[in-house]
Amino acid sequence: NSASKPPPTPSPLRFSKFFQSNMRILVTGGAGFIGSHLVDKLMENEKNEVIVVDNYFTGSKDNLKKWIGHPRFELIRHDVTEPLLIEVDQIYHLACPASPIFYKYNPVKTIKTNVIGTLNMLGLAKRVGARILLTSTSEVYGDPLVHPQDESYWGNVNPIGVRSCYDEGKRVAETLMFDYHRQHGIEIRIARIFNTYGPRMNIDDGRVVSNFIAQAIRNEPLTVQAPGTQTRSFCYVSDMVDGLIRLMEGENTGPINIGNPGEFTMLELAENVKELINPDVKIAMVENTPDDPRQRKPDITKAKELLGWEPKIKLRDGLPLMEDDFRQRLGVPRKNLNA
Ligand code: NAD
Ligand code: UDP
Ligand code: UDP
Repeated sequence: NSASKPPPTPSPLRFSKFFQSNMRILVTGGAGFIGSHLVDKLMENEKNEVIVVDNYFTGSKDNLKKWIGHPRFELIRHDVTEPLLIEVDQIYHLACPASPIFYKYNPVKTIKTNVIGTLNMLGLAKRVGARILLTSTSEVYGDPLVHPQDESYWGNVNPIGVRSCYDEGKRVAETLMFDYHRQHGIEIRIARIFNTYGPRMNIDDGRVVSNFIAQAIRNEPLTVQAPGTQTRSFCYVSDMVDGLIRLMEGENTGPINIGNPGEFTMLELAENVKELINPDVKIAMVENTPDDPRQRKPDITKAKELLGWEPKIKLRDGLPLMEDDFRQRLGVPRKNLNA
């Protein structure tokens, strides 16, 4: 008689199995740009319960408004530099400002978020037996001397520069992930994310794609930081979210590069934005910031082979999708060319 049997012992790897069949997923930084798109995707699966933890430094409740009040969704105001006691099966750990102007604004807080924040999420993962994914960054390669960058490259990073709170912070976060994995058997996943763009980026975020699109819509000069020959490779956010979920669900710890290998100089990006959004806009060369990496392009062989993932959306298709969102938020409708 099954009714008299003792309840099963909770699996250390599926905490909520004991209580219900749903998968309980924590997304730190879920009110931010990538995090909120990830939440949208995770919520599509009716077996998922999503808990977002965010301190709203660069994120906003607005990004999650369609989920507030949903029975499978919970939003907690919390700073990851403080301990967090909850029960979850998976942790997507994104909490950390990503735009240089924001991460340089309070560099000590940025490094605390990367180091103490990641330590706390690993402590949580260890206590409840959850699998944890860290969103690391192409910045761990610094100003790379290898091109394109594959995961075996150790990087060329200034440990004492103005970007170090972010790039060295993420390098320590990766170290902590592997130490918890080796020492405590925690299931880890590390994504090295390359520049990502799309709807919901902060309009005044300071990153290049959001700057150029807002400037083109407002008919202000596109500010190309000198020399303009530096390159980046831009991944549309839906491709990014797809890659992160595949990494979490797969069997590989990583680190794995997730990014779009299409490489552009900042002048080429400006020309594309000009052509697609506002042919009359001017391009202005302005001063750059210290330690700006001169080139960046992911080698995504590992992502293709191990995750069966590659980006689908080209820059020229993604920019207009982002333009629609920016026009709506800036209150500047598209001109009707036939009028
Ligand atoms: P974002 O700034 O939009 O989102 C970060 C979120 O984390 C925000 O909602 C912010 O309020 C929250 N946050 C920051 N510090 C926190 C703290 N101490 N406690 C709790 N919440 C905190 O940035 P994003 O572009 O969505 O980036 C998400 C993640 O992806 C970050 O870890 C970032 O380093 C990584 N990443 C992003 C890119 C990119 O191009 N967007 C590139 C490489 C890596
Ligand atoms: N921690 C947390 N939530 C938990 C378990 C731990 O935030 O559910 C924090 C804890 O406060 C500590 C960190 O994670 O600062 C690392 O925890 P761990 O147990 O690995 O180390 P210890 O507490 O022994 O230093
Ligand atoms: N950049 C630019 N104009 C801007 C903002 C940034 O030319 O208004 C350049 C910047 O110098 C860098 C690249 O764009 O070479 C990407 O900068 P971003 O801050 O978007 O991201 P990063 O990859 O540096 O973190």
